[in-house]
Amino acid sequence: MFGKKKTETVNVKEPKEPKPQKAVNMKKLEDLYYAAENARKHAYAPYSDFRVGAALLVKPNEDSVLPKNKMYTGVNIENGSYGATLCAERVAFAKAISDGVLEYDIGENPFVAIAVSAGDEEALPCGICRQFMSEFAPEITVVTKADGQIRIRNLMQLLPESFQLNKDEQAAVAALEAADVSDESEAEEVPAAESAEEAAAEEKAE
Ligand code: ZN
Repeated sequence: MFGKKKTETVNVKEPKEPKPQKAVNMKKLEDLYYAAENARKHAYAPYSDFRVGAALLVKPNEDSVLPKNKMYTGVNIENGSYGATLCAERVAFAKAISDGVLEYDIGENPFVAIAVSAGDEEALPCGICRQFMSEFAPEITVVTKADGQIRIRNLMQLLPESFQLNKDEQAAVAALEAADVSDESEAEEVPAAESAEEAAAEEKAE
């Protein structure tokens, strides 16, 4: 949909330097907030009636094949089994990621800002959403509105010293495991189903 995919490489990278934040002007952040507010009407909140809208701004590098400013909205989606409820912020991220955003050469820090609206009340992301977002955008700008004023924060302020698994280490382990699995499948020519059949035949013969 977006054109050329970046080539997949499984190599172990050097630990990353803190990513520079891409500049987004105030007007764009205000527009983002109003998009979040507008999305609220789609919220599914029959239990709490606390309707939340979110709008996530994805800004790839200049040379990316992706559109320059792509926005994904989200709403809270409640469930009779309360624990299954989804927050608007995570829904917006899920839409972007399931659209394949991470698979393209979008450069460092593509998720630049997320706006959250709960109407007149200021709605800051909950703890789960802060952790969820820090996986993909530890320095994302969080836009809300309080007392009629747009408020800008950085996720690092909202979730300092967040939990991060060492992804480079994880990638290295995954690569090793994948290599092991392919070695084994080459060495073992007899499929499991066949040996099960043989076992059954032997059992019958007895
Ligand atoms: Zn949340």
